[in-house]
Amino acid sequence: MAKATDKCSFCGRPKKETRLLIAGLEGHICDSCVLQAQIILSEELANDKKKDLPDFLLMKPVEIKNYLDQFVIGQDEAKRVIAVAVYNHYKRLSHVRTNDDDVEIEKSNIVIVGETGTGKTLLARTVAKMLNVPFCIADATALTEAGYVGEDVESILARLLQVADYNVAAAERGIIFIDEIDKIARKGDNPSITRDVSGEGVQQALLKMLEGAIVNVPPQGGRKHPEQKMIQINTQNILFITGGAFDGIDKKISNRLQTNKIGYKADRKHENIDKDNILQYITPVDLKSFGLIPELVGRLPIVTFMHALDKETLRRILTEPKNSLIKQYTKLFELDNIKITFEEDALSFVVEKAIEFKLGARGLRSILEGVMNDAMFELPSKNSTKPFKVTKAFVEEKFRKTSMAHLKVA
Ligand code: ADP
Repeated sequence: MAKATDKCSFCGRPKKETRLLIAGLEGHICDSCVLQAQIILSEELANDKKKDLPDFLLMKPVEIKNYLDQFVIGQDEAKRVIAVAVYNHYKRLSHVRTNDDDVEIEKSNIVIVGETGTGKTLLARTVAKMLNVPFCIADATALTEAGYVGEDVESILARLLQVADYNVAAAERGIIFIDEIDKIARKGDNPSITRDVSGEGVQQALLKMLEGAIVNVPPQGGRKHPEQKMIQINTQNILFITGGAFDGIDKKISNRLQTNKIGYKADRKHENIDKDNILQYITPVDLKSFGLIPELVGRLPIVTFMHALDKETLRRILTEPKNSLIKQYTKLFELDNIKITFEEDALSFVVEKAIEFKLGARGLRSILEGVMNDAMFELPSKNSTKPFKVTKAFVEEKFRKTSMAHLKVA
Protein backbone atom coordinates (compact mmCIF):
# COMPACT_ATOMS: atom_id res chain seq x y z
CA MET A 1 0.00 0.00 0.00
CA ALA A 2 1.14 3.53 -0.74
CA LYS A 3 2.23 5.66 2.21
CA ALA A 4 0.92 9.24 2.74
CA THR A 5 4.27 10.65 1.57
CA ASP A 6 4.30 8.66 -1.70
CA LYS A 7 3.73 10.35 -5.07
CA CYS A 8 2.48 9.13 -8.47
CA SER A 9 5.60 8.21 -10.47
CA PHE A 10 3.89 9.41 -13.68
CA CYS A 11 2.36 12.81 -12.88
CA GLY A 12 4.06 13.49 -9.55
CA ARG A 13 0.84 14.17 -7.59
CA PRO A 14 1.13 13.42 -3.86
CA LYS A 15 -1.14 10.70 -2.49
CA LYS A 16 -3.54 13.15 -0.86
CA GLU A 17 -4.35 14.75 -4.25
CA THR A 18 -5.39 11.43 -5.81
CA ARG A 19 -8.42 9.24 -5.30
CA LEU A 20 -6.24 6.17 -5.37
CA LEU A 21 -2.50 5.64 -5.56
CA ILE A 22 -1.51 2.14 -6.59
CA ALA A 23 1.88 0.90 -5.42
CA GLY A 24 4.14 -1.06 -7.76
CA LEU A 25 7.52 -2.66 -7.16
CA GLU A 26 9.52 0.47 -7.86
CA GLY A 27 6.92 3.25 -8.01
CA HIS A 28 3.29 4.33 -7.90
CA ILE A 29 0.48 5.21 -10.29
CA CYS A 30 -2.58 7.34 -9.54
CA ASP A 31 -6.17 6.76 -10.72
CA SER A 32 -6.08 9.54 -13.34
CA CYS A 33 -2.85 8.22 -14.86
CA VAL A 34 -4.43 4.75 -15.08
CA LEU A 35 -7.36 6.25 -17.00
CA GLN A 36 -5.01 8.21 -19.24
CA ALA A 37 -2.99 5.07 -19.94
CA GLN A 38 -6.14 3.16 -20.79
CA ILE A 39 -7.12 5.75 -23.41
CA ILE A 40 -3.65 5.60 -24.97
CA LEU A 41 -3.79 1.81 -24.97
CA SER A 42 -7.17 1.58 -26.68
CA GLU A 43 -6.07 4.09 -29.33
CA GLU A 44 -2.95 2.07 -30.02
CA LEU A 45 -4.92 -1.18 -30.25
CA ALA A 46 -7.39 0.42 -32.66
CA ASN A 47 -4.47 1.58 -34.82
CA ASP A 48 -3.06 -1.93 -34.86
CA LYS A 49 -6.42 -3.25 -36.01
CA LYS A 50 -6.49 -0.74 -38.83
CA LYS A 51 -3.05 -1.94 -39.86
CA ASP A 52 -4.46 -5.44 -40.15
CA LEU A 53 -7.15 -4.28 -42.54
CA PRO A 54 -6.60 -5.03 -46.20
CA ASP A 55 -4.28 -2.66 -47.97
CA PHE A 56 -5.33 -3.69 -51.43
CA LEU A 57 -6.54 -1.26 -54.01
CA LEU A 58 -10.24 -1.73 -54.50
CA MET A 59 -11.68 -0.35 -57.68
CA LYS A 60 -15.30 -0.39 -58.89
CA PRO A 61 -16.30 -3.07 -61.44
CA VAL A 62 -16.11 -0.69 -64.42
CA GLU A 63 -12.66 0.43 -63.35
CA ILE A 64 -11.59 -3.18 -62.81
CA LYS A 65 -12.67 -4.04 -66.34
CA ASN A 66 -10.87 -1.00 -67.74
CA TYR A 67 -7.75 -2.10 -65.92
CA LEU A 68 -8.03 -5.66 -67.25
CA ASP A 69 -8.52 -4.26 -70.79
CA GLN A 70 -4.98 -2.95 -70.67
CA PHE A 71 -3.55 -6.44 -70.37
CA VAL A 72 -6.12 -8.91 -71.65
CA ILE A 73 -7.55 -8.57 -75.14
CA GLY A 74 -11.21 -9.39 -75.78
CA GLN A 75 -12.96 -11.79 -73.39
CA ASP A 76 -15.40 -9.07 -72.41
CA GLU A 77 -17.99 -11.39 -70.85
CA ALA A 78 -15.43 -13.02 -68.57
CA LYS A 79 -13.97 -9.67 -67.62
CA ARG A 80 -17.36 -8.28 -66.63
CA VAL A 81 -18.27 -11.32 -64.57
CA ILE A 82 -14.87 -11.40 -62.87
CA ALA A 83 -14.90 -7.65 -62.24
CA VAL A 84 -18.16 -7.98 -60.32
CA ALA A 85 -17.06 -11.11 -58.44
CA VAL A 86 -13.75 -9.60 -57.43
CA TYR A 87 -15.36 -6.33 -56.43
CA ASN A 88 -17.89 -8.13 -54.23
CA HIS A 89 -15.29 -10.42 -52.73
CA TYR A 90 -12.96 -7.65 -51.70
CA LYS A 91 -15.79 -5.36 -50.66
CA ARG A 92 -16.76 -8.14 -48.31
CA LEU A 93 -13.20 -8.14 -47.00
CA SER A 94 -12.90 -4.43 -46.43
CA HIS A 95 -16.26 -4.31 -44.73
CA VAL A 96 -15.68 -4.56 -41.00
CA ARG A 97 -18.45 -6.73 -39.62
CA THR A 98 -20.33 -5.55 -36.60
CA ASN A 99 -22.25 -7.76 -34.20
CA ASP A 100 -25.65 -6.64 -35.44
CA ASP A 101 -24.71 -7.39 -39.06
CA ASP A 102 -27.07 -10.17 -40.01
CA VAL A 103 -26.23 -10.33 -43.70
CA GLU A 104 -23.12 -12.30 -44.37
CA ILE A 105 -21.73 -11.82 -47.85
CA GLU A 106 -20.57 -15.13 -49.24
CA LYS A 107 -17.39 -15.82 -51.10
CA SER A 108 -17.32 -15.59 -54.89
CA ASN A 109 -14.94 -18.32 -56.06
CA ILE A 110 -14.81 -18.47 -59.83
CA VAL A 111 -14.61 -21.07 -62.63
CA ILE A 112 -13.36 -19.96 -66.03
CA VAL A 113 -14.08 -22.40 -68.83
CA GLY A 114 -12.03 -22.00 -71.97
CA GLU A 115 -9.45 -23.58 -74.23
CA THR A 116 -5.85 -23.51 -73.15
CA GLY A 117 -3.99 -20.32 -74.03
CA THR A 118 -7.04 -18.08 -74.11
CA GLY A 119 -5.92 -15.95 -71.18
CA LYS A 120 -7.45 -17.59 -68.08
CA THR A 121 -4.23 -17.48 -66.07
CA LEU A 122 -3.41 -14.04 -67.40
CA LEU A 123 -6.80 -12.75 -66.25
CA ALA A 124 -6.39 -14.17 -62.74
CA ARG A 125 -2.83 -12.90 -62.47
CA THR A 126 -3.83 -9.44 -63.67
CA VAL A 127 -6.59 -9.24 -61.07
CA ALA A 128 -4.07 -10.09 -58.33
CA LYS A 129 -1.62 -7.53 -59.68
CA MET A 130 -4.32 -4.89 -59.74
CA LEU A 131 -5.27 -5.59 -56.13
CA ASN A 132 -1.67 -5.98 -55.07
CA VAL A 133 -2.37 -9.27 -53.29
CA PRO A 134 -0.28 -12.46 -53.25
CA PHE A 135 -1.00 -14.78 -56.16
CA CYS A 136 -0.05 -18.35 -56.93
CA ILE A 137 -0.89 -20.97 -59.52
CA ALA A 138 -1.60 -24.60 -58.76
CA ASP A 139 -2.17 -27.42 -61.17
CA ALA A 140 -5.10 -29.59 -60.20
CA THR A 141 -3.59 -32.58 -62.00
CA ALA A 142 -0.61 -32.56 -59.63
CA LEU A 143 -2.84 -32.75 -56.59
CA THR A 144 -3.73 -35.90 -54.71
CA GLU A 145 -5.59 -36.60 -51.56
CA ALA A 146 -3.52 -36.28 -48.40
CA GLY A 147 -1.60 -39.45 -47.80
CA TYR A 148 -1.06 -40.32 -51.45
CA VAL A 149 2.03 -39.66 -53.50
CA GLY A 150 1.85 -36.22 -55.07
CA GLU A 151 1.03 -32.78 -53.87
CA ASP A 152 -1.70 -32.38 -51.30
CA VAL A 153 -3.93 -29.37 -51.25
CA GLU A 154 -2.14 -27.80 -48.27
CA SER A 155 0.92 -27.40 -50.42
CA ILE A 156 -0.94 -24.81 -52.49
CA LEU A 157 -1.36 -22.72 -49.37
CA ALA A 158 2.30 -23.20 -48.51
CA ARG A 159 3.16 -21.73 -51.90
CA LEU A 160 0.85 -18.77 -51.42
CA LEU A 161 2.43 -18.14 -48.04
CA GLN A 162 5.84 -18.22 -49.62
CA VAL A 163 4.78 -15.69 -52.27
CA ALA A 164 3.43 -13.52 -49.43
CA ASP A 165 6.86 -13.60 -47.78
CA TYR A 166 5.40 -15.56 -44.88
CA ASN A 167 3.04 -12.73 -44.03
CA VAL A 168 0.01 -14.79 -42.95
CA ALA A 169 -2.42 -11.85 -43.05
CA ALA A 170 -1.43 -11.03 -46.64
CA ALA A 171 -1.68 -14.68 -47.74
CA GLU A 172 -5.13 -14.90 -46.19
CA ARG A 173 -6.47 -12.37 -48.66
CA GLY A 174 -4.56 -13.61 -51.69
CA ILE A 175 -5.71 -15.24 -54.90
CA ILE A 176 -5.07 -18.86 -55.88
CA PHE A 177 -5.49 -19.91 -59.48
CA ILE A 178 -6.16 -23.63 -59.84
CA ASP A 179 -5.56 -24.68 -63.40
CA GLU A 180 -6.93 -27.77 -65.13
CA ILE A 181 -9.75 -28.20 -62.66
CA ASP A 182 -11.54 -30.16 -65.40
CA LYS A 183 -8.91 -32.90 -65.21
CA ILE A 184 -10.08 -33.94 -61.75
CA ALA A 185 -13.63 -34.50 -62.92
CA ARG A 186 -14.90 -37.94 -62.13
CA LYS A 187 -15.30 -40.18 -65.09
CA GLY A 188 -18.94 -40.80 -65.87
CA ASP A 189 -21.88 -39.10 -64.29
CA ASN A 190 -22.36 -41.65 -61.54
CA PRO A 191 -20.61 -41.53 -58.21
CA SER A 192 -17.98 -44.23 -58.35
CA ILE A 193 -18.07 -47.15 -55.97
CA THR A 194 -14.34 -47.61 -55.93
CA ARG A 195 -12.27 -44.75 -54.64
CA ASP A 196 -11.03 -42.42 -57.26
CA VAL A 197 -7.79 -41.06 -55.88
CA SER A 198 -6.91 -38.64 -58.62
CA GLY A 199 -10.33 -37.26 -59.36
CA GLU A 200 -13.16 -37.26 -56.91
CA GLY A 201 -10.83 -37.65 -53.93
CA VAL A 202 -9.03 -34.45 -54.86
CA GLN A 203 -12.32 -32.66 -55.38
CA GLN A 204 -13.29 -33.68 -51.86
CA ALA A 205 -9.98 -32.46 -50.52
CA LEU A 206 -10.45 -29.10 -52.20
CA LEU A 207 -13.92 -28.55 -50.79
CA LYS A 208 -13.00 -27.36 -47.33
CA MET A 209 -10.23 -25.15 -48.52
CA LEU A 210 -12.45 -23.47 -51.09
CA GLU A 211 -15.20 -22.80 -48.64
CA GLY A 212 -13.09 -21.47 -45.83
CA ALA A 213 -11.22 -23.45 -43.22
CA ILE A 214 -8.27 -23.17 -40.93
CA VAL A 215 -5.60 -25.26 -42.59
CA ASN A 216 -2.31 -26.29 -41.05
CA VAL A 217 0.41 -25.48 -43.49
CA PRO A 218 3.93 -26.81 -43.25
CA PRO A 219 6.34 -23.89 -42.97
CA GLN A 220 9.47 -23.37 -45.11
CA GLY A 221 11.08 -26.66 -45.98
CA GLY A 222 7.79 -28.54 -45.89
CA ARG A 223 7.39 -31.84 -44.19
CA LYS A 224 11.06 -32.62 -44.22
CA HIS A 225 11.29 -30.89 -40.87
CA PRO A 226 8.51 -32.40 -38.78
CA GLU A 227 9.71 -30.63 -35.66
CA GLN A 228 8.77 -27.23 -37.14
CA LYS A 229 5.48 -25.79 -35.99
CA MET A 230 2.69 -25.75 -38.56
CA ILE A 231 1.38 -22.36 -39.64
CA GLN A 232 -2.37 -21.93 -39.52
CA ILE A 233 -3.99 -20.28 -42.50
CA ASN A 234 -7.62 -19.29 -42.67
CA THR A 235 -8.81 -19.71 -46.24
CA GLN A 236 -12.08 -17.89 -45.72
CA ASN A 237 -10.96 -14.75 -47.52
CA ILE A 238 -8.73 -16.33 -50.13
CA LEU A 239 -10.24 -15.97 -53.59
CA PHE A 240 -10.02 -19.13 -55.67
CA ILE A 241 -10.15 -18.77 -59.41
CA THR A 242 -10.22 -22.09 -61.21
CA GLY A 243 -9.83 -22.73 -64.88
CA GLY A 244 -10.08 -25.57 -67.33
CA ALA A 245 -10.66 -26.41 -70.97
CA PHE A 246 -13.54 -28.79 -70.14
CA ASP A 247 -13.10 -30.52 -73.48
CA GLY A 248 -16.47 -31.66 -74.79
CA ILE A 249 -18.54 -29.56 -72.40
CA ASP A 250 -20.04 -27.78 -75.41
CA LYS A 251 -21.85 -31.00 -76.30
CA LYS A 252 -23.25 -31.22 -72.79
CA ILE A 253 -24.44 -27.62 -73.02
CA SER A 254 -26.03 -28.29 -76.42
CA ASN A 255 -27.73 -31.39 -75.11
CA ARG A 256 -29.12 -29.48 -72.18
CA LEU A 257 -30.36 -26.70 -74.42
CA GLN A 258 -31.93 -29.29 -76.74
CA THR A 259 -33.73 -31.06 -73.93
CA ASN A 260 -35.05 -27.78 -72.72
CA LYS A 261 -36.70 -27.42 -76.07
CA ILE A 262 -39.85 -29.21 -74.98
CA GLY A 263 -42.65 -26.73 -74.59
CA TYR A 264 -43.30 -23.86 -76.95
CA LYS A 265 -41.63 -21.20 -74.80
CA ALA A 266 -38.36 -23.04 -74.63
CA ASP A 267 -38.63 -23.78 -78.32
CA ARG A 268 -38.63 -20.11 -79.09
CA LYS A 269 -35.60 -19.64 -76.87
CA HIS A 270 -33.82 -22.40 -78.72
CA GLU A 271 -34.18 -20.56 -82.02
CA ASN A 272 -31.98 -17.75 -80.76
CA ILE A 273 -29.15 -20.00 -79.72
CA ASP A 274 -25.83 -18.97 -81.17
CA LYS A 275 -24.50 -22.41 -82.06
CA ASP A 276 -21.02 -21.19 -82.89
CA ASN A 277 -20.49 -19.88 -79.43
CA ILE A 278 -22.13 -22.44 -77.23
CA LEU A 279 -19.87 -21.86 -74.21
CA GLN A 280 -21.68 -18.62 -73.46
CA TYR A 281 -24.62 -20.69 -72.21
CA ILE A 282 -22.57 -22.52 -69.61
CA THR A 283 -24.16 -22.99 -66.19
CA PRO A 284 -23.13 -24.83 -63.02
CA VAL A 285 -25.36 -27.71 -64.17
CA ASP A 286 -23.00 -28.37 -67.07
CA LEU A 287 -19.99 -28.50 -64.76
CA LYS A 288 -21.83 -31.11 -62.78
CA SER A 289 -22.62 -33.21 -65.81
CA PHE A 290 -18.99 -32.91 -66.81
CA GLY A 291 -18.01 -34.63 -63.58
CA LEU A 292 -17.44 -32.02 -60.90
CA ILE A 293 -19.15 -33.11 -57.72
CA PRO A 294 -22.15 -30.98 -56.76
CA GLU A 295 -20.48 -29.82 -53.53
CA LEU A 296 -17.53 -28.45 -55.48
CA VAL A 297 -19.78 -26.79 -58.04
CA GLY A 298 -21.63 -25.21 -55.12
CA ARG A 299 -18.42 -23.66 -53.85
CA LEU A 300 -17.58 -22.21 -57.24
CA PRO A 301 -20.68 -20.08 -57.75
CA ILE A 302 -19.33 -17.77 -60.44
CA VAL A 303 -19.07 -19.48 -63.82
CA THR A 304 -17.75 -17.74 -66.89
CA PHE A 305 -16.09 -18.61 -70.19
CA MET A 306 -13.35 -17.53 -72.58
CA HIS A 307 -13.71 -17.29 -76.34
CA ALA A 308 -11.33 -19.19 -78.57
CA LEU A 309 -8.81 -16.71 -79.99
CA ASP A 310 -9.46 -15.79 -83.61
CA LYS A 311 -7.08 -14.13 -86.06
CA GLU A 312 -8.20 -10.66 -85.20
CA THR A 313 -7.73 -11.19 -81.44
CA LEU A 314 -4.30 -12.78 -81.88
CA ARG A 315 -3.26 -9.84 -84.02
CA ARG A 316 -4.38 -7.44 -81.30
CA ILE A 317 -2.59 -9.50 -78.63
CA LEU A 318 0.65 -8.90 -80.49
CA THR A 319 0.52 -5.13 -80.15
CA GLU A 320 -2.21 -3.88 -77.82
CA PRO A 321 -1.59 -5.13 -74.27
CA LYS A 322 0.47 -2.84 -72.08
CA ASN A 323 3.34 -5.32 -72.16
CA SER A 324 2.61 -6.80 -75.59
CA LEU A 325 5.30 -8.80 -77.34
CA ILE A 326 5.89 -6.10 -79.93
CA LYS A 327 6.20 -3.44 -77.23
CA GLN A 328 8.70 -5.67 -75.46
CA TYR A 329 10.84 -6.19 -78.57
CA THR A 330 10.69 -2.48 -79.33
CA LYS A 331 11.90 -1.71 -75.83
CA LEU A 332 14.67 -4.32 -75.97
CA PHE A 333 16.07 -2.83 -79.18
CA GLU A 334 15.56 0.70 -77.93
CA LEU A 335 17.90 -0.08 -75.06
CA ASP A 336 20.55 -0.65 -77.73
CA ASN A 337 19.51 2.61 -79.43
CA ILE A 338 17.94 0.74 -82.34
CA LYS A 339 14.53 1.82 -83.55
CA ILE A 340 12.63 -1.24 -84.69
CA THR A 341 9.33 -1.28 -86.57
CA PHE A 342 7.14 -4.19 -87.61
CA GLU A 343 5.24 -4.11 -90.87
CA GLU A 344 1.62 -5.07 -90.78
CA ASP A 345 1.95 -8.11 -93.08
CA ALA A 346 4.90 -9.37 -91.04
CA LEU A 347 2.61 -9.48 -88.02
CA SER A 348 -0.14 -11.16 -90.04
CA PHE A 349 2.33 -13.86 -91.02
CA VAL A 350 3.16 -14.56 -87.36
CA VAL A 351 -0.54 -14.76 -86.52
CA GLU A 352 -1.20 -17.14 -89.42
CA LYS A 353 1.57 -19.46 -88.32
CA ALA A 354 0.26 -19.45 -84.74
CA ILE A 355 -3.15 -20.48 -86.06
CA GLU A 356 -1.74 -23.01 -88.52
CA PHE A 357 0.20 -24.79 -85.80
CA LYS A 358 -2.69 -24.47 -83.37
CA LEU A 359 -0.41 -22.75 -80.88
CA GLY A 360 -2.78 -20.00 -79.80
CA ALA A 361 -1.40 -16.91 -78.10
CA ARG A 362 1.44 -18.89 -76.57
CA GLY A 363 2.69 -19.65 -80.05
CA LEU A 364 3.07 -15.98 -80.92
CA ARG A 365 5.95 -15.74 -78.54
CA SER A 366 7.70 -18.91 -79.69
CA ILE A 367 7.39 -17.90 -83.33
CA LEU A 368 8.65 -14.38 -82.72
CA GLU A 369 11.54 -15.60 -80.59
CA GLY A 370 12.64 -17.88 -83.41
CA VAL A 371 12.22 -15.19 -86.02
CA MET A 372 13.92 -12.40 -84.08
CA ASN A 373 16.84 -14.39 -82.74
CA ASP A 374 19.32 -13.55 -85.51
CA ALA A 375 18.52 -9.85 -85.28
CA MET A 376 18.83 -9.86 -81.50
CA PHE A 377 22.14 -11.67 -81.86
CA GLU A 378 23.72 -9.46 -84.49
CA LEU A 379 22.31 -5.96 -84.22
CA PRO A 380 23.68 -4.96 -80.79
CA SER A 381 27.26 -5.53 -81.98
CA LYS A 382 26.84 -3.51 -85.13
CA ASN A 383 26.76 -0.29 -83.13
CA SER A 384 24.56 1.18 -85.80
CA THR A 385 21.63 3.39 -84.93
CA LYS A 386 19.95 2.75 -88.27
CA PRO A 387 16.24 1.95 -87.87
CA PHE A 388 15.42 -1.71 -88.41
CA LYS A 389 12.29 -2.66 -90.30
CA VAL A 390 10.79 -6.13 -89.82
CA THR A 391 9.14 -6.99 -93.11
CA LYS A 392 7.10 -10.01 -94.16
CA ALA A 393 10.00 -11.22 -96.31
CA PHE A 394 12.33 -11.06 -93.31
CA VAL A 395 9.90 -12.95 -91.08
CA GLU A 396 9.24 -15.60 -93.74
CA GLU A 397 12.92 -16.17 -94.31
CA LYS A 398 13.77 -16.42 -90.62
CA PHE A 399 10.79 -18.62 -89.89
CA ARG A 400 11.92 -21.12 -92.54
CA LYS A 401 15.15 -21.50 -90.58
CA THR A 402 13.48 -22.19 -87.24
CA SER A 403 12.84 -25.67 -85.98
CA MET A 404 9.14 -24.87 -85.91
CA ALA A 405 9.02 -24.66 -89.69
CA HIS A 406 9.67 -28.40 -89.80
CA LEU A 407 6.79 -29.23 -87.51
CA LYS A 408 3.91 -31.04 -89.07
CA VAL A 409 0.66 -29.15 -88.75
CA ALA A 410 -1.40 -30.94 -86.11
P1 ADP B 1 -4.65 -20.20 -70.20
O1 ADP B 1 -4.50 -19.98 -68.73
O2 ADP B 1 -6.04 -19.94 -70.68
O3 ADP B 1 -4.12 -21.51 -70.68
P2 ADP B 1 -2.75 -18.08 -70.39
O4 ADP B 1 -3.40 -17.00 -69.62
O5 ADP B 1 -1.63 -18.81 -69.73
O6 ADP B 1 -3.80 -19.10 -70.95
O7 ADP B 1 -2.22 -17.45 -71.77
C1 ADP B 1 -1.00 -17.78 -72.35
C2 ADP B 1 -0.31 -16.54 -72.90
O8 ADP B 1 -1.01 -16.09 -74.03
C3 ADP B 1 -0.33 -15.40 -71.91
O9 ADP B 1 0.88 -15.27 -71.25
C4 ADP B 1 -0.56 -14.19 -72.77
O10 ADP B 1 0.66 -13.63 -73.17
C5 ADP B 1 -1.22 -14.69 -74.00
N1 ADP B 1 -2.68 -14.44 -74.03
C6 ADP B 1 -3.64 -15.39 -74.07
N2 ADP B 1 -4.86 -14.85 -74.15
C7 ADP B 1 -4.67 -13.51 -74.16
C8 ADP B 1 -5.56 -12.39 -74.22
N3 ADP B 1 -6.88 -12.56 -74.31
N4 ADP B 1 -5.02 -11.17 -74.19
C9 ADP B 1 -3.68 -10.99 -74.12
N5 ADP B 1 -2.79 -11.99 -74.07
C10 ADP B 1 -3.27 -13.24 -74.08
